[in-house]
Amino acid sequence: MSEEKKDNNKKPSVWITYSEEDKQALEKLSAGYINFISDCKTERESVKETIKQAEAAGYKSLDKFDKLNPGDKVYTVCMNKTIALFNIGTEPIENGLKILGAHIDTCRLDLKQNPLYEDGGFALFDTHYYGGIKKYQWVTLPLAMHGVVIKKDGTTIEINIGESEKEPVFCVTDLLIHLSQEQMEKKASKVIEGEKLDILIGNYPIKDGDKESVKAGILKLLKDNYNIEEEDFLSAELALVPAGRARELGLDRSMILGYGQDDRVCSYTSLIAMLEASETPKRTNCCLLVDKEEIGSYGATGMQSHFFENALAEVMNAAGQYSELAVRRALRNSTMLSSDVSSAFDPLYASAYDKKNVAYLGKGMVFNKFTGSRGKSGSSDANAEYVAKLRNALDEHDVHYQFSELGRVDLGGGGTIAYMMAKYGMDVIDSGVAVLSMHAPWEATSKIDIYETKKGYSAFLAEM
Ligand code: MN
Ligand code: MN
Repeated sequence: MSEEKKDNNKKPSVWITYSEEDKQALEKLSAGYINFISDCKTERESVKETIKQAEAAGYKSLDKFDKLNPGDKVYTVCMNKTIALFNIGTEPIENGLKILGAHIDTCRLDLKQNPLYEDGGFALFDTHYYGGIKKYQWVTLPLAMHGVVIKKDGTTIEINIGESEKEPVFCVTDLLIHLSQEQMEKKASKVIEGEKLDILIGNYPIKDGDKESVKAGILKLLKDNYNIEEEDFLSAELALVPAGRARELGLDRSMILGYGQDDRVCSYTSLIAMLEASETPKRTNCCLLVDKEEIGSYGATGMQSHFFENALAEVMNAAGQYSELAVRRALRNSTMLSSDVSSAFDPLYASAYDKKNVAYLGKGMVFNKFTGSRGKSGSSDANAEYVAKLRNALDEHDVHYQFSELGRVDLGGGGTIAYMMAKYGMDVIDSGVAVLSMHAPWEATSKIDIYETKKGYSAFLAEM
């Protein structure tokens, strides 16, 4: 890292010069990240892979411990969709934890519970999209199907179709340009309606009594290949996501193009920083990867649930440190990097941003002191004293970082999980990686930002 890093607000003039060692570490992290987001496209898949990597780094499930001691590495999972990892420190847990938090759910098209129908000689799946999407971006792309079907007897059938080149893909159709005169007059929010995001899944008819039926053919395939009956969709969670692997982006390979980088880019880097911090810490470290952020953090697996509080109580109990007051103190005394992606400056849409207060791709880890919009509404505003301490830790570790806002003051905004943790009275700030084309089927990030953000998380765990 060069000396120029100190002046973090002069973004366009800052250049990062890496040593050979840094360059190798950056490429290694990028490759691991590309694998992670290519292989794990749902929160369930992300939790599964997180457990695999955590166990390889010495973590064990909480129910495997009779008693927790400093140096123990433990994880606990909520409904296969949300996970918390703890590296138990030498200090009493009521002194507070250092928490890295991010979300692992991503925008996609979910199947409805009665999805299958036939029309015009096609079998189709009806969907309800998940998260905030520009619906017109999701037509005519190859899509893969990921998820689970749970049979009445409790058997789980895992579905993952369309990622290998040998497997078929699915798609949403769009009207040909030649007949689109009326469609092209519509507003972008209406040009593709939510009910038009149905998935093409078949065209071969089979004999069904004295009729021909494409739907019957699909049902037969589902039964023969997966042991799925039509009514099993009632207890299924199936999603359509962009098919295919994440790729390096640009002639200089400086960036990554991939699905669902919001927010698995912060999840992966938080996880790696957590797993790399192998020594027994003074304050207990925690990495929290949660579901349902994109739809408001509701439900048992979202950040608004008591999952984390309950998990902490269990951990403190297993460590022989539980009391109602001790749990409250632990939460109050914690510090957190609540990580989510930030919007990166896009020169094609320059007027959406304040150039002095926007994140630039390739200029390092991003901090949003506050989020919210139109008068900071809905924001968790980080305390200046905490921000100052954090700046010091980042500078100590030569982390390249920038402070930004999502966009122009009166234009809009977005929420994260920060305010839900802030309600415990802990110090928390929004941080993470800048993304181009956020919530599009294929989002873009910078390898430098990914590397610097991981370094930032490590600095936080080491110093804060
Ligand atoms: Mn997000
Ligand atoms: Mn999002």
